[in-house]
Amino acid sequence: MKYSKQRELILQALHDTTVHPTAEQLYAMIRVTEPTISLATVYRNLNLLAENGIIKKFSDKNGIFHFDHCTHNHFHFICSKCNRVHDISYTFTPDPAAAISAQTGLEVESYDILFHGICSNCKTN
Ligand SMILES: [Zn+2]
Ligand SMILES: [Zn+2]
Repeated sequence: MKYSKQRELILQALHDTTVHPTAEQLYAMIRVTEPTISLATVYRNLNLLAENGIIKKFSDKNGIFHFDHCTHNHFHFICSKCNRVHDISYTFTPDPAAAISAQTGLEVESYDILFHGICSNCKTN
């Protein structure tokens, strides 16, 4: 990938947040310091970064994409009420990719597991 100042800014903004933002949310964050950037630029660069495996992308049940700078193995939990995304450690279960390959011989290259439910914040409200 060719170096781009704007892509660098997008990646930096994604690194600085833990909320797994959508493109629109990230766009709003970047505009504070970079008012000339366009939403189309943010979209294009996020997709490019995801295609190159530099960031992760997954869609919620409304089909809206969220982005994550953390590419190591972990799962996500998304709250059905507030739509907040939480990181879930994958150490609570044996590596599903290894289990699948042992059982079926299929070679897993990547996987995305998304849990849906109610977060503790919404449960108490
Ligand atoms: Zn919630
Ligand atoms: Zn994550």
